[in-house]
Amino acid sequence: MAKKKKYVYFFGDGKAEGSADMKDLLGGKGANIAEMTNLGIPVPAGFTITTEVCTYFQKTGGKYPPGLKKDVAAALKKVEKVMGAKFGDAKNPLLVSVRSGARISMPGMMDTVLNIGLNDKTIQGLIEKTQNERFAYDAYRRFVNMYGDVVLGVRPRTEKEHDPFEEILEKKKKARGVTLDTELTAEDLKELVAEFKALIKKRLGRPFPEDPMEQLWGGIGAVFASWNIPRAVSYRQIHGIPEEWGTAVNVQAMVFGNMGEDSATGVAFTRDPATGENYFYGEYLTNAQGEDVVAGIRTPQPINRAKKVPKGMKTLEDEMPKIYKQLATIRKKLEKHYRDMQDIEFTIQQGRLWMLQTRTGKRTAAAAVKIAVDMVKERLITKKEAVMRVEPEQIDQLLHPMLDPKASKKLLTKGLPASPGAAVGQVVFTAEEAEAWAKDGKKVILVRVETSPDDIRGMNAAEGILTTRGGMTSHAAVVARGMGKCCVAGAGDMAVNYKKGFFKVGKVTVKQGDWISMDGSKGEVYLGQVPKVVPQLTGEFATFMKWVDEFRTLGVRTNADTPHDAGVARAFGAEGIGLCRTEHMFFEGKRIDAVREMILAEDVAGRKKALAKILPMQREDFVGIFKAMDGLPVTIRTLDPPLHEFLPHTDKEIRELAKDMGVKPSVLKAKVASLAEANPMLGHRGCRLGIAYPEITEMQARAIFEAACKVAKMGKRVHPEVMIPLVGHVNELKLQKEIVVKTAEEVMKAQGVKIKYLVGTMIELPRAALTADQIASEAQFFSFGTNDLTQTTFGLSRDDAGKFLPFYVAEGILPHDPFVTIDEQGVGKLVEMGVTLGRQTRPDLKVGICGEHGGDPASVRFCHKVGLNYVSCSPYRVPIARLAAAQAALADQPAAKPKKKASPAKKKTAKKKSK
Ligand code: PEP
Ligand code: MG
Repeated sequence: MAKKKKYVYFFGDGKAEGSADMKDLLGGKGANIAEMTNLGIPVPAGFTITTEVCTYFQKTGGKYPPGLKKDVAAALKKVEKVMGAKFGDAKNPLLVSVRSGARISMPGMMDTVLNIGLNDKTIQGLIEKTQNERFAYDAYRRFVNMYGDVVLGVRPRTEKEHDPFEEILEKKKKARGVTLDTELTAEDLKELVAEFKALIKKRLGRPFPEDPMEQLWGGIGAVFASWNIPRAVSYRQIHGIPEEWGTAVNVQAMVFGNMGEDSATGVAFTRDPATGENYFYGEYLTNAQGEDVVAGIRTPQPINRAKKVPKGMKTLEDEMPKIYKQLATIRKKLEKHYRDMQDIEFTIQQGRLWMLQTRTGKRTAAAAVKIAVDMVKERLITKKEAVMRVEPEQIDQLLHPMLDPKASKKLLTKGLPASPGAAVGQVVFTAEEAEAWAKDGKKVILVRVETSPDDIRGMNAAEGILTTRGGMTSHAAVVARGMGKCCVAGAGDMAVNYKKGFFKVGKVTVKQGDWISMDGSKGEVYLGQVPKVVPQLTGEFATFMKWVDEFRTLGVRTNADTPHDAGVARAFGAEGIGLCRTEHMFFEGKRIDAVREMILAEDVAGRKKALAKILPMQREDFVGIFKAMDGLPVTIRTLDPPLHEFLPHTDKEIRELAKDMGVKPSVLKAKVASLAEANPMLGHRGCRLGIAYPEITEMQARAIFEAACKVAKMGKRVHPEVMIPLVGHVNELKLQKEIVVKTAEEVMKAQGVKIKYLVGTMIELPRAALTADQIASEAQFFSFGTNDLTQTTFGLSRDDAGKFLPFYVAEGILPHDPFVTIDEQGVGKLVEMGVTLGRQTRPDLKVGICGEHGGDPASVRFCHKVGLNYVSCSPYRVPIARLAAAQAALADQPAAKPKKKASPAKKKTAKKKSK
């Protein structure tokens, strides 16, 4: 008989059946609770029901595998034994929490039920045990509220409706003439329990379940079901978490942080998650439950005095020094064990510390880099591990502009610096508005009293998030940091009026649609639009990127058309230009007139006349670029876009140009009309232009080599690489190459300078990839133009796909947008084929990529895998590509240390992808 599958894993009393490397099965929370238990850290006993049960549950429409009920009952018995209490016992009741826990943390996205096991009988036992009637009824009313909402679905039925439990609570407070929940008496809370239960009965037509076992299974089912609630699905989509992973369910003995002044609850990070500084960072509230800290209803206190503490505020270190010391020891133990920054949750119940959770802490990009570098210095991790620890996409945050410190600003208000960066946008008050406005291309800042997991899409669409309530670990702060969004939280001076769509700070009113700017590192909010500037990179960033380059084998170049962009990219570590789109230079200032004149000329003489005007301008552009890239290769592409992009379209433009050219407007208009194409992207563009008008290629080659000679004479090293676009047949390249080589030799002879150069081609048509062996007989290098190659392989217009491609992605017809991440199976196959065939003919063929994919981490991994020499991307993506390339190279190597890592799930996926 096959061995029965194990679905339930117990933990408690220093021993756990699971461990940290079982995240796939036990979820992150369950695996880490097991690990903590095994480390001898005090954790309330409990058990984890595996993610496999979730999969079963989803597949069978809410059923459980046979035998699960028995296993749960057995595990519950063990919990009872360890905790010295009994589930459902009227004298000595055990209460449990039921929480979700996927492989990767999805903060607040799924459901939780606390205090399960309370009913009209067990409440007496709880009162007896704690000698605290008020506490017991507070727990009870919270339980009925939570259970009613999460398990029984009693919640607002429309967007406009208030929370029905909240309404009853508010009414009660009003009737008692109090403002805080804590001011309600035991009797008030007892009444609330009855009123809540009456509400449930009225809504559902059946009473609130009193049977603890029924409550437990209701909770377990609700948590499994919450894997598929809209906000969890949205979160999974945003963060690329596969649906089939499922969540585990953790059932754990309750401990209470709200049992009086010797009780507390808190959240802490073993290092500062915003800056990465190595000090113990955390917040807590005395006499409170975990939700109170995260929900941001009360402003929490710092756990210690490592940073300035607001006047009059106490810290945990002051209030409970012994417990703080114990916590600080656990912090050290956890960091040493996990070798990564941890995000921990703790509860102090009547002077006794309990750890509820540890997980790899989410952090800003700046913190990720600092922590990785510091931990190498502290000998906690290796350089390789440090490089694997920072997500390439995250680096983006560091390179993004911040508010210009020199700009004049009008400070509106201050809150907590919850997530760094800058945001400038128009104020909106709901997540739906944020999404809708962003869809219209507007930049918005989402302003809320506090955020909830339901706001996730709106937060993602917004430039930044501003809340009036909540601390550094509030939902808004945690989620914003994870998303790399600027966030200012707890700006308490603000009074928000959702209904009327404005907020007020003192006498200033800011309405929906008004512009504000935020500095998430300072927690400051300004009126109006403050300009942004590029940030200065830290020493740690430089160290980190140095390590990145030690491991990277793939080259990283940049796509740049101006000396300025070339300079920026070089500062970011670009090792050359992989694509200079010369046509971008044609639009500047007066040049467009000369270009139009060239296109519309009737004959070669007319074209040459116009080209002669363009030549000196183009030459000077190249001089600037060659100077900026002294010593590095510069790939310059000859004219590529469809001619219609340059043509005058309005009557006014045609009249003006006709005047310049000395022709009748009607003649010019007819010429413009004759050049119109039904399908310009597949029309007269790319090398087809240079073939029809060789004088264009000749002029461009002349400009390139005259500039190169000039710069070489200045003592700089120039390495021009001339690239012919949209080649489909080797003969096209042959013809264009002849022109380039002839011109280059002529110029060099005339200038008396010898320069090494290459002539190559873009591979951006399927036919080019399929005949790459033939093309390589002429091409000295290839550069894959994967924008066009994607367009032509899919037969999918780059310019029109936006209308329907998002639907394809949302529906899972395509796994991702192929214009963003390379389609490895189709387009990628052509790339692989092109590389192999090309190198068959020319073994030393240099091959790169210059489509947008060159800056996309997943595509960079692919480029590494298929043996490209370099990727080329926009200047700001250069460091991202460098890191992605290093990680791809490291993923090829055997693991540095077989030791357990803090977040193996993520790393495993990265490795798999690049295999
Ligand atoms: C490409 O097609 O990938 C490319 C880089 O060229 P462009 O985007 O200019 O067409
Ligand atoms: Mg192209």
